[in-house]
Amino acid sequence: MGNRDAFLRRMEQVLDNQWLTNNGPMVQEFEQRIAEHLGVKHCVAMCNGTIALEIAIRALGLSGEVIVPSWTFVATAHALYWQDIMPVFADIDPVTHNLDPAAVRRMITPRTSGIIGVHLWGRAAPVEELRAIADEHGLRLMFDAAHAFGSTYQGQSIGRFGECEVLSFHATKAFNTMEGGAVVTNNDELAEAMRLMRNFGFKGYDNVIHPGTNGKMIEACAAMGLANLDGFSEVVAANVRNHAAYREALAGIPGISLLDYDPAERNSHHYVVIEVDESCPVTRDDIIVALHAENILARKYFWPGCHMMKPYRDLFPHAGLLLEHTRFVAERVVVLPNGAALTEEVIATVADTLRVLATDIRP
Ligand SMILES: *Cc1c(COP(=O)(O)O)cnc(C)c1O
Repeated sequence: MGNRDAFLRRMEQVLDNQWLTNNGPMVQEFEQRIAEHLGVKHCVAMCNGTIALEIAIRALGLSGEVIVPSWTFVATAHALYWQDIMPVFADIDPVTHNLDPAAVRRMITPRTSGIIGVHLWGRAAPVEELRAIADEHGLRLMFDAAHAFGSTYQGQSIGRFGECEVLSFHATKAFNTMEGGAVVTNNDELAEAMRLMRNFGFKGYDNVIHPGTNGKMIEACAAMGLANLDGFSEVVAANVRNHAAYREALAGIPGISLLDYDPAERNSHHYVVIEVDESCPVTRDDIIVALHAENILARKYFWPGCHMMKPYRDLFPHAGLLLEHTRFVAERVVVLPNGAALTEEVIATVADTLRVLATDIRP
C-alpha cells in the first residue's frame, strides 16, 4: 500500500488543483520521476500495462506475426491479437524462464515483423542475442518489462533496451499506481507518436492528426505512483529480506527449489518462485491446494501457458510440440506471497506446510 499519508497529501493536491486527468501536473511529475529513475529520455504514462503494450505495438508498426514467449502473462499475447497481429510462441530456457534465442530463430517466417521479449520475474531476457536476431532479420524489438521495474541488466536499468520497454504498475506489481503502465524509450519520434495515440490523436484543441485511443493515466494514479516511488527502496529491501527468509525456511525440503536472483544485478525480488520437481513426494497442485487451505494465495503463474489459452489453443492446437520447456516449467512453478506487509508467520506457515507435505510418509 505504501505510505498512506504521502498518498493522501498528494490526493488533497489533486482535488485542490481541480485537474483530474488529461496530462495533469501529477502525471507530468510522475513521468519525469520515472524517466529519471530509469535513466531514459521518455516515459509515456498510460492507464495500464496492457494498453501501453497495445500502443507501443501500434507505434512500432508491428504486423503479421510477432514472436513472444508463451510463458508470460496472457496480456503480452492479447495485446497483439487484439489488433489482428498473430502472436507466435517461442520456447524458453528452462533455467532462466526467459526466451531461448535459438527457439526464437526457429519461429521466424516471412510474415514476422518483430519480437517482444519479456523480462520474466524481473530477470533480463537475453537482450543482446535478441538484438542480434532482430538486426539480422530486419525485425523490430521491444520488451514487456512489466515485472522489471527496478531491475538491471549488466548494471544498467531495464527500460532502455530494444526500441521501447513497457512497464505495468498494476496493484499486483512491486511498484504500483493501483492501475497503470508506461512505455519508456529513448526514441523521440516513437514517444511523440505514443503521446498522440494515448489521447485520441489530439494535437492541441480540436486538432486530431492521428488515430488514437484513450490510454491516459489519471491524476489519482500518478499520485499513488509518486507516493510509492518514494517508498520503493523500502519495499525492495523488505522483499530481499523475505526472499532470504524463504530460502532459509525452505532449505532441505525434498523436491523444492527456490529461484535465485543474480546478486550482481538489481531486482525487486517481488516474485518468490519455487519449482517442484519429481523428487517431491506430492504434486505441485497438491501444494497449491494445501497452501490455499491455510489461506495463503500461492499461484501457478503462468500456468498453463498462453498457448493453452483461448483463442491460441484453438488456433495452434499443436503449439505445445515446440514448447517443451514451457510445458515443463508450467507444471512445476508456484509463486509465493511477498511484499512489505508480509509477516514472518506467513513464511513459517508456508515452510511448515510444505515440509509436512513433502516429508510425510504416506501409505
Ligand atoms: C501485469 C502484466 C501485464 C499487464 O499489465 P496490466 O497493467 O495489468 O495491464 C503484461 N505483461 C506482463 C508480463 C505482466 O505481468
